[in-house]
Amino acid sequence: MLATKLVDNAYDVALENFDSAADALGLDNDTREMIKFPERVLTVTVPVRMDDGHIHRFEAYRVQHSTARGPAKGGIRFHPQVTLDEVKALATWMTWKCAVVNIPFGGGKGGITCDPKHMSQGELERMTRRYTSAILPLIGPDQDIPAPDVYTNSQTMAWIMDTYSMTKGYTIPGVVTGKPISLGGSLGRNEATGRGCFYTIQCACEHLDIPLKGATVAVQGFGNAGSIAAQLLHEAGARIIAVSDSTGCIYNRDGLDIPELMHMKEITGHVYGFPGSEPIEPAALLALKCDILVPAALENAVTGENANTIGARIIAEAANGPLTPAADRILEAKGAFVIPDILCNAGGVTVSYFEWVQDEQHLFWEAQDVYNRLEKVMKTSFKDVLKIHIDRNVSMRIAANMLGIGRVAEAIHLRGIYP
Ligand code: NAD
Repeated sequence: MLATKLVDNAYDVALENFDSAADALGLDNDTREMIKFPERVLTVTVPVRMDDGHIHRFEAYRVQHSTARGPAKGGIRFHPQVTLDEVKALATWMTWKCAVVNIPFGGGKGGITCDPKHMSQGELERMTRRYTSAILPLIGPDQDIPAPDVYTNSQTMAWIMDTYSMTKGYTIPGVVTGKPISLGGSLGRNEATGRGCFYTIQCACEHLDIPLKGATVAVQGFGNAGSIAAQLLHEAGARIIAVSDSTGCIYNRDGLDIPELMHMKEITGHVYGFPGSEPIEPAALLALKCDILVPAALENAVTGENANTIGARIIAEAANGPLTPAADRILEAKGAFVIPDILCNAGGVTVSYFEWVQDEQHLFWEAQDVYNRLEKVMKTSFKDVLKIHIDRNVSMRIAANMLGIGRVAEAIHLRGIYP
């Protein structure tokens, strides 16, 4: 595992971000008590028969932070460093994110503490199915709808959908999003997070008067979110000068050939050794002088320790929680423009919403339809956040949180308290 380790507790970061935005909104204490903390937290034990015959016990979670605006919505992460606090943080961010892009979902998240890179397909399938069975009372198309996150993909979603459907006795595609197209997935879902991130970068460049054509870009994390954002930026004429994944960092100041790199990564599973590139240290990637930095790996990539070294003018948070509050303060003082995660990477959940709508209606859209609707949602949301940023003279992160938290608070006020 490379570079940036988890230094701050992500849930503390989520709570601190909440407080800053709630203060700026002037939110009363009763409302804070109602919306700040997760509604439901489930910890489950997942025993799995491994290929060598022994039984391994995995610890796993599903957290529903809020259902104030609709069913809980959020991905499932398979990673050795998954903790309950991390899942709670990610669920909290999902609530504000769905509200920022104004889709009728609340926030949830799930995770299994495991090392998927060292598990066979059979072990992954058995673990996923047993986990699905353990969280089954909580999930459903109108209750809580999982999706892919780090080291989970459309195959994982197919196993979840099948396990859920087998238990209920009929096929229920709407229980998860990010499914394969042949099982009720949406065209454009796979690339939605990177595409949404790209649209927000376009907006930021326009706002800051930076031409995207010729702009220099560094991307940390070359998975689903990072590679698609890199591909679209490359197609728009930007120069991707550095890329990393968990195995290494590569650099070419003239720009990397992103389609070729994606092809190599698909075959080899890594980016290091890409022809025409030179290896650099992970810390050096973050410190590169460039127009746009896209952190697209995990939380806490930029902290109070290394924020001063950041050389980018725009930081587009494709990942969830890559900047700590200390990093935010330093970067703001340096004049960097941050596109906060709950806006920047909201394309994934937006197209997840489109997928759910299509599943519920049994009527499927063309890819261009999905792209057009996504572009509209992302650009409108960017404009809404930017307006608060300018009018209220707060950071883009606080502005995005104000928009999301304000909408959830409104829903809670209208619903009142039960009983
Ligand atoms: P992924 O598993 O497809 O890719 C993760 C990438 O990060 C891999 O290339 C991995 O090698 C790399 N990585 C891991 N640790 C690293 C490190 N220390 N340094 C550099 N690279 C490292 O996952 P993803 O779906 O692309 O998710 C990435 C981030 O985007 C996460 O924070 C996730 O929560 C967020 N996100 C994803 C989606 C989505 O739809 N996939 C939606 C919203 C947010």
